[in-house]
Amino acid sequence: MRIAVVSDIHANLAALEAVLAALQPFDAIWQLGDNVGYGPQPDEVVTRLRESGATGVRGNHDAAAIGELATASFNLDARAAVLWTAGIISPETRAWLEALPETLTEGAFTLAHGSPRDPTWEYVLTIPAARANLAMMSTQHAFIGHTHVPLVFREDDGLVETLAPSDGTILRLDERHTLLNPGSVGQPRDGDPRASAALLDTDAGNVEWRRVAYDIATTQARMRAVGLPRRLVDRLGHGQ
Ligand code: ZN
Repeated sequence: MRIAVVSDIHANLAALEAVLAALQPFDAIWQLGDNVGYGPQPDEVVTRLRESGATGVRGNHDAAAIGELATASFNLDARAAVLWTAGIISPETRAWLEALPETLTEGAFTLAHGSPRDPTWEYVLTIPAARANLAMMSTQHAFIGHTHVPLVFREDDGLVETLAPSDGTILRLDERHTLLNPGSVGQPRDGDPRASAALLDTDAGNVEWRRVAYDIATTQARMRAVGLPRRLVDRLGHGQ
């Protein structure tokens, strides 16, 4: 089975469509949360995922957009985008977001937005944070998002190593526990503005990372048209 693993789409339909086209063929979609927030097309993104039968989890922006998380800890631009999102999403989008669990287990994989131990908030960017999560996981592997940075942490005999996958990187999965971050579809933050995603092949036992160019100007124009913060528009062009 081939599974497209996408995270942090952030209502960027152009990026999502480009990624799904590039990862074909696949049998299923797993999404790791933050489907909405920041971007201009929350309903379109959720409709695309819903109609594709995507399974997955809730991110902090998803929770905030449906009023289940206070925005006090969000920065001003993120809060403005969340409030705009909350005001325009359809009842169908709201219902779909409300039904998302915080974590999900799919075979040997845990799906969580931030981390298995703190699915809403924890950013796993350091070895201590990775080690703590690797130690408490109930599955062999976990897919996580939230940082918008493609990254792998792998435990090997008590040591935790970090791998920074780039376009075309293929990681063979084995008995070692891993935390696997596909990067962000809709708002990459590692300096590469191309959409980031991963393809899991459960038969081959590997994960491939992909970077996909998309029409950034289209998304930026849509953001300007609905009055989303200028800084959020600009950062898409830099991948930061
Ligand atoms: Zn995010």
